[in-house]
Amino acid sequence: MRLKEKDLGKMMTLWGKPLISAVFLFVMLVFGYQQILAPQARTETGLDFAALSRHVSVIAKKPHPIGSAANRKTRDYIVSYFESLGLETEVQKTTVVYRHPTEPNRNTIIGNVENIIARLPGRSGVDLEGPGDLVLMGHYDSRPLTPGAGDDASGTAAIMETARIMSSGPAPAHDVIFLINDGEEMGLLGAQGFFRQHPLAKTAGLVLNFEARGSYGASMMFETSSNNAWLIDELIESTPGLVASSLSYEIYRKMPNDTDMSISKGKGIPGLNFAFTAGLFDYHAMTDNVKNLDANSLAHQANNVLATAQHFANLEEWQSAGGDRTYFNLWQGTVVSYSQGLAVALGLVVLLMGAGLFVTAMRAGTIARGSVGTGFLGILVIFLTVYSLFENLIVYMHRADAGIRRLTSLGDWPFMAFFILTLGLCLWFGYRFRHGLGKLDIFITVLVLVLLILLAGNTAISAFVIPVIVGLIMIAIRTRVSLPDVWTAAMCSWWLLTAVVLYLAPNASYLFVLPLVSVLLGITMQRRLRGVTGGRIQFVTVLVFSFIPLLLLPPIYIMGYLALGLALPQVLMIFCALSVLLIWPLLRSIGFSADGKGALLLLGAGVVMTLVVMLGRGFDTRHPRAEELFYAIDVDQQQGFWVSSDARPGSWLGDFMGDQAKAANMTRILPSYDQDVLIRETVLPQYQATTLTVKSDRLMNGMREMRLHLEPTGSEYINLLFATDAGISAAAINGLPIAVPDAQKSGSTGLEINAWWRWRLYGIQEDGADIVLTMESGEPVPVRIVEVDYEMPKGGPRRPDDSMPRPYTWSDSTVIFQTVILE
Ligand SMILES: [Zn+2]
Repeated sequence: MRLKEKDLGKMMTLWGKPLISAVFLFVMLVFGYQQILAPQARTETGLDFAALSRHVSVIAKKPHPIGSAANRKTRDYIVSYFESLGLETEVQKTTVVYRHPTEPNRNTIIGNVENIIARLPGRSGVDLEGPGDLVLMGHYDSRPLTPGAGDDASGTAAIMETARIMSSGPAPAHDVIFLINDGEEMGLLGAQGFFRQHPLAKTAGLVLNFEARGSYGASMMFETSSNNAWLIDELIESTPGLVASSLSYEIYRKMPNDTDMSISKGKGIPGLNFAFTAGLFDYHAMTDNVKNLDANSLAHQANNVLATAQHFANLEEWQSAGGDRTYFNLWQGTVVSYSQGLAVALGLVVLLMGAGLFVTAMRAGTIARGSVGTGFLGILVIFLTVYSLFENLIVYMHRADAGIRRLTSLGDWPFMAFFILTLGLCLWFGYRFRHGLGKLDIFITVLVLVLLILLAGNTAISAFVIPVIVGLIMIAIRTRVSLPDVWTAAMCSWWLLTAVVLYLAPNASYLFVLPLVSVLLGITMQRRLRGVTGGRIQFVTVLVFSFIPLLLLPPIYIMGYLALGLALPQVLMIFCALSVLLIWPLLRSIGFSADGKGALLLLGAGVVMTLVVMLGRGFDTRHPRAEELFYAIDVDQQQGFWVSSDARPGSWLGDFMGDQAKAANMTRILPSYDQDVLIRETVLPQYQATTLTVKSDRLMNGMREMRLHLEPTGSEYINLLFATDAGISAAAINGLPIAVPDAQKSGSTGLEINAWWRWRLYGIQEDGADIVLTMESGEPVPVRIVEVDYEMPKGGPRRPDDSMPRPYTWSDSTVIFQTVILE
C-alpha cells in the first residue's frame, strides 16, 4: 500500500504532526529498549534448555568461592559431567601468585586453584599450522556472598551443554578445550594458572570467553583481540541473533574491568568475549540466583557458545591479521561491519560535508557568526541545567537511606524517567528560546537548581557556581537567542564530537558519523524541497532523517546506563540532551504546538516519573536491602564480638546490636582498613585459630633465613600481614618465590596503607603451607593473621526476608585475627 499525499494530508489533519511525531519517537524508543533484552530462545539448535537450567541450579545452589567445600562439590559435578561425555578430563591443581599491577606494594594474592580442563580431539589428519586449539572458557567459582547463577554458572552450563552436543557429533577440525577456571573472582587466578603454567596453553589458538555481570539482557560480544577483522567476519557469518558493537570494545579497553580473557589476550592469543550485563543489582549479590536468572539470557548465552564453537572448531583455516573492523547492530541479529579504513574515510567525508554546509550557510547569510556563539551559550544553559539536576539527584540518593541500591534495584526504569525528564527539559528550553527568555524563566530555572542543591545537601562550592553561571548566561542571551541558532550550535557540537571520536577511537565513530550524515542529508533535502512542495513532504523528510539517530543511539544509552550503574548519569544525560537537540526538527513538531503544551506535558511526566523512581521503591524479597553483619574473634584480647557497618536504630540489625553496641573502627581487625563500624561484645565461643610456627631460624650468607609453617584450621581465606619495616628481602611459599614489593625492601613505612605487606591466601591446602622469609635484621617480626571462615557461629540473628549480606564485605563470616611475633 502506498500512501498518497492526499491520505497523508488527511492523517495529519486528523492527528496532527505532534501526535505522529510523538508516536514515532515512542515506537523507536521501545524498539531501542527491546534491543538490549535477550531474544526469545531459539529452539532449533539442539540445545537442551532443561539441562542448561539443571546445570545452573546445581552449580549455583549456594555461594561457592575458591577454597570452599561448596566449590569442591561444584568442581566434582562439572568434572564428572565431562567424564560422562567421554571427554579426556583433568583438574589442574596449581598455585598462582599475583600482584595487582596498579598497587604492587599493597597486596600479593596467592591462590591454590583447581581448573577443570576437558578435551575433545579434532579430526586426525587435519594439518593445522601454529597453535590451533579452540578454548571455550568460563569460571566455576563465585564470590563469597552470591550463588553466582549468572556469574558464571550460566557460562559454565552453556559450555557443558555445547560439550555434550559437540562430543556426540562428528569430530571437529580443531581440538576443542573446555576450560572452566577456578578463582576468577579473586584476581583471574585460574586463568593465570592455565595460560602461564599448563602445557596445553601453548596449543591454544583462539579463546572464546563467556561471562555475566547481572541477571538479564542480551549476551553481547563486547571485547575482541586486536586485528579482529577475520574474527568479526566469521562471527557475523556464524552467529544468529548476534549482538555486538565495536563501541563497547573501545570503551572496555579504557576501563579497569577484567575477565579471564585479559590473561589469554596478554599472552597474544586472539579471542572473543561474551557477557550479558543488565541487572547490576544482582551482580555479585545473593540475588544472582537461579530464580532470578533470565531464561532467555541463559539461552542466548548458550546459543552464542554453540554457534561460535561449532563454527570456529570446524573452520580449517584460521587467520590472524587483517586490521580492525567497525561493527554494530542495526537491530538484533543484523550486524553491519566495515573496515577501520572505511570508517575513517566515511568519517572524514561526513565531517567535510558538515563543514561545507556550514560555510555555505554562512555565505548565504543563513547563519551569522555571532548567532552561532549565542546558540552555543543556549546549549550550554541546557547542558549545565541537566548536569546540575542529575548530579544533585544522585547526591541526594547517596545521602538517602540505601538510596543508590534502591535506584539500582529498579533496573532500567530510572533511565527511562531520567530520559523523559531530560527530553521535557530540552523541549521546554526550546520552547522558551523560541519565544524569548522572560525574567520569570531565568528566575524559575535558577531557583529550582538552587533548591535542588539545598535539598540534596550538596556542599560543594562548584554546585552553587552552576546556577549562577546558568543565570548569567540566560540574562546575556535573553533577547538574542533563537531556536535555529541553538540547533546549529548543537550540530556543530556533534560535529566536533565526531571529529574527536574519529581521532581517538575510529571504530566507535560510527555512532556519531551515521546520525550526523543522516541529519545533514535531511537538512540538504529540506532546502531543496523548500518552496517546491508543501510542508507535508518536509515533515516526512524530518521523520525519515530522524530514523538513523533513533535507531542507533537509544540502545547504546540504555546499555551505557545499565553498565555504568549510577556512576555517571549526569554525563550520560548530557549525551542524551545533545542527541535530542540533534533531532530537533522532530521534537519541535512534538513540543511547540499549542503554546508548548507538549513540552510542559513531557516535563511534568519526567518530574513525576523521576520522583516515583527515587522515592517509590522499598526493599522486598526480590530486592533485599544489603546489610553487613559478621562475627570477629580477637585472639590477642580474647574477645568475641558482632560487627556491622549497617546497623541503624529501628532495623532488625539495630535491634540485634542493641544499646550496648559501641563505635569502633575496622583498623582494629585489618590495619589500613579505615571504616567506622558498630560492635557488640559477646561471650567468646570455642574456636580454633590458624597457627604460624618457626621451624628454623638461621644465618645464611649474612642474612637471616626463617622457615615457617602455616597450619590452617579450615578457613577459606587467610591474610598474612608483614610490617613494612620488617626488612624482608626475599620470600617463598611452598617453594614458589614471591616478589617482594619495593616498600618492603626499602623498609619505608610510608603511607598507612603501605605500612603492611598483605598476603591474601585462597584455597590453602589442609596440610598448610611452608613459608621462607629472608631478612636483613635479627629483630622480632610482627605478623598479623586475619582469617575468614565463610560461616557465622551458631546463635546469630535470623535475617528477615528483605535483607541480604552486603556484597564485597565479610558479612556472614567469622573473622579471627591475631598478632604473632616471630622471634
Ligand atoms: Zn565472572
